[in-house]
Amino acid sequence: MSQAAAPAVPLPVRIPIREIVPWAVFVVLLALIAVYFVSAEQGATSIFANMYVHEFVHDGRHLLAFPCH
Ligand SMILES: [Zn+2]
Repeated sequence: MSQAAAPAVPLPVRIPIREIVPWAVFVVLLALIAVYFVSAEQGATSIFANMYVHEFVHDGRHLLAFPCH
């Protein structure tokens, strides 16, 4: 009588938090910069004097319900 092979039990994948945290911080910073340019890049809070950034993200502003007009 032969023994049946035991079903393979998948090992849990370890997520190394110490390797992920710097990338997570970097992505959060990029997201905050993107949200700033979409939401507050106009008028008194603008970094650039012209309206190029505002016009470039204008549809995104309205999509995310930020006021601009
Ligand atoms: Zn608008």
